[in-house]
Order: sequence, then structure tokens, then C-alpha cells
Amino acid sequence: MGKKQENLMEKIVSFCKRRGFVFPSSEIYGGFAAIYDFGPYGVELENNIKDQWWKYMVQMREDIVGLDSAIFMHPKIWEASGHVAGFSDPLAECKKCHSRLRVDHLLESVGVVADEKMKEEEISRIFSENKKKIKCPVCGASDFTDVKKFNLLVKSNLGNFTEDWSKEPVYLRGETCQGIYVNYENVLNSARVRIPFGIAQIGKAFRNEITARQFIFRTREFEQMEMQYFTSPEDEMKAYEELKKYRWNFYINCLGLSEKNLKWHKHENLVFYAKEAYDIEYNFPFGFSELEGLHARGDYDLTQHSKYSGKDLSYVDPKTNKKCIPHVVESSAGVARSMLAVICEAYTEEKVGEDTRVVLKFKNNLAPIKVAVFPLLKNKPELVAKAREIFNDLKKEFVCEFDDNGNVGKRYRRQDEIGTPYCVTVDFESLEKGDVTVRDRDTMKQERVKIEELLDYLHDKLE
Ligand SMILES: [Zn+2]
Repeated sequence: MGKKQENLMEKIVSFCKRRGFVFPSSEIYGGFAAIYDFGPYGVELENNIKDQWWKYMVQMREDIVGLDSAIFMHPKIWEASGHVAGFSDPLAECKKCHSRLRVDHLLESVGVVADEKMKEEEISRIFSENKKKIKCPVCGASDFTDVKKFNLLVKSNLGNFTEDWSKEPVYLRGETCQGIYVNYENVLNSARVRIPFGIAQIGKAFRNEITARQFIFRTREFEQMEMQYFTSPEDEMKAYEELKKYRWNFYINCLGLSEKNLKWHKHENLVFYAKEAYDIEYNFPFGFSELEGLHARGDYDLTQHSKYSGKDLSYVDPKTNKKCIPHVVESSAGVARSMLAVICEAYTEEKVGEDTRVVLKFKNNLAPIKVAVFPLLKNKPELVAKAREIFNDLKKEFVCEFDDNGNVGKRYRRQDEIGTPYCVTVDFESLEKGDVTVRDRDTMKQERVKIEELLDYLHDKLE
């Protein structure tokens, strides 16, 4: 990471705290590693990203339905999925400086992608094949121990009141998609869907990452937006190609990321059942990194759950009477990663005369606050009353903020920083002529708008 980019990341981290987007967890207790909280503007941004995703993935699609499965599930599900045996952080020790390092990260540094669900033997083999090329990021030596794996599943004693509960733990889910697979049949039998169809879900997942890194990019508690699409075996790859295109467009059209900051990354080392796996990567200040994974998973998931549950999950096509275990193509995205990408994309420093203004150029649909309303002066009751009246009208339609603190120039800067697209100011002319000033965040241009037309005006601009 270059010096300039490093500075940018530091700036964004401190900006996020200062303006109430992201707070380190449990800060007054000295912090809690690899967990973050979202502040007042962060939660608005987060909700807007999730709303966009839901609209795009569920509302706009006749063939996709939603689900909200619980975080806790039968522990056998994680055996069936392969997580109990295979879902681990692979570590190796540098023989010279004794740093313990994540093997998948070391492999990444020489451009090799390893899957977290790989068995110890698989990842060991890939590591020994590439070992010579890899240097220890701490001391630069190139001499490592063998790979050792640490399971990522987070354990709990839910419903287990014995002392040695850890022998039979219940897990916090390591991914949301297992809740989709185990509800596949319930959805099929209750919703008006036929193969091919998808199930979408947004929810928290938990992983005992050994090294969490890059701010909210990799954390131990995180939120996923996942969609599993069930197809016939013949249609799997066609559905996969369609989903890849569809998801790529989401980042451009719904989140406003520019295409030059996105790229495809093809996985070379696949878990044995996967047909194909690609990531969509974003150009973060710390380099291109994964925003979303798209996987063609074959019939592995439903086959495993049929085997472990004893319930036949095969599908009989009502037209052809052909029986099959449906194949799955998956889209798996992270809420916080999307949020970080959106903030990085929007963060702009601009020279305005002698000053520099920080402005978050969010797409309007994502802006935490859509409209700010100001009385020109806070000590003039008639201006304040009029501004309040307008604010009370607008807040029924948009997330708004009322601000009468400091001069108008300062209020504009505050709203620029949190990415508010429009500021409405009530001045003395407003009282006479019944109009207000509307100021545009990006152009900083102001225009007069009639108060009775303000709502339509803003709807027009914001949608
Ligand atoms: Zn070393």
C-alpha cells in the first residue's frame, strides 16, 4: 500500500468515527478486537445499502423470495456443510522470527487464492507448492513450518446447561446460506416457486478470525447479503453467468461504484465440489479486495443436507417428471464491505477558495440524510418557526435533519461531510415570497423554490 493510500485509509477510519459512521466496539472499556459498531449515520447508510440489495434481489425478481432464518441452528448442519471439519484459518509459523501467519493471506501475496473450506491436506499441498515464492511479511525470510488449522466456527452453550458444553457446542452461524439450504423445501412447498428460483437473506454471521484486518473489511461479527439460486443441473452454468452480470451491475447502478474500481478475480484453487468461483473486487485504499463471491456449487449443498438429515431433498420437475437434486449458484456479499467501498468511493476533498471541503458524494439513494433544513438565523423566532414547519412536512417523506447551529456556511460543510444531497434554508425572503433556497451538495449551486413545490422538487431530484 502506497503512502498516499495509507493516509487515505487512516483518514477514512478517523472520519468514520468523528462523524458517527463507525465506532470501535466497547471503546470506553478499552475496545474489543475485530468488532465494530455503526453510529447514527452509519446505520442509515447500512440500512440504505441493505434496502437497495433487497429491492434489487427480491422485489425486482419474480423468481427470488426472501427469508430470515435464525442465527442458531441444529449443530449437525455445520457437520453436513463441512464447516466442523474444514472451515478453518490455516496458519504457518515463520521459522526465523516465529510469527504465526495465515496461509491463505501468504498465498494471496503471491496471487494464489485458497478456499477457506479446503481440507488441511488440500491447503497444505497448495502451500508447499508455492512456499518458495513466499516471504515472511515480518522478517522477509522464506522458511515456514507446515500448515496447522484453527476452526473458525464460534461456539456457544445455547440450551446446554452442563459444565462441559463445549464438547457438544451449538454454533453461531458461520454463514447465512445454510439457513437457506435447510429451508429450501419449506419455501418450495409454501411459496409459488418452481425450479429455477432463488432465496435471499440478509443476516449476521460469526467467524473466529485469527487476524481481523483492514477496519470493517474483515471482522469477527459481520453481516451478509446472500442469495442461493436453485437450478436444474443443465441450467447451472447459464444461471451462473446471468447472476455474475446481474451482480456486477448492482455495484454500479445501485451503489454508484465506478467500473474502473471493480474487477473480477477468478479462483484457481476450488473446493472439490465447486464448478467455478469468481470474486468481485473493489479497489480499496489497501488494494483490490473481495466485495462479493459468486460460486457455482453443483449439487453439494442439498446432497449433504439430504445425507445428514435423512430427508430426500430431490426435486421432481412437474413438466418432465425428471428427478434431480437441484444445483446451486450463490451470490454472497458483505454489508460492511459494501459500506466501506461506498464510503471510499464517495470520499472527496475539494478546494473551495482557500478552504478544503470534505464531501461524501454518495448516490442520493444511499445518503444517510437526504435533506437538511436550516433557519438562516437561530435567534429569529419567525424564521425558526417556518423552518420547523417545513422540516416537519419533509421528515414524513425523507430522513431529514434540522440544524440551526453556527453560520449557514458551517452547516453546509457539516452536511457535505455526511453526504446530504440537499440543504434547504429559510430566510427573510421566504417569509415574504413563500420560497426557500435549495443548495446542491455537489455543484454548491443554490436555487429558489416555492415552498408549496418543495416536496415535488425534492422527490424529483432524489429519485
Ligand atoms: Zn519471519
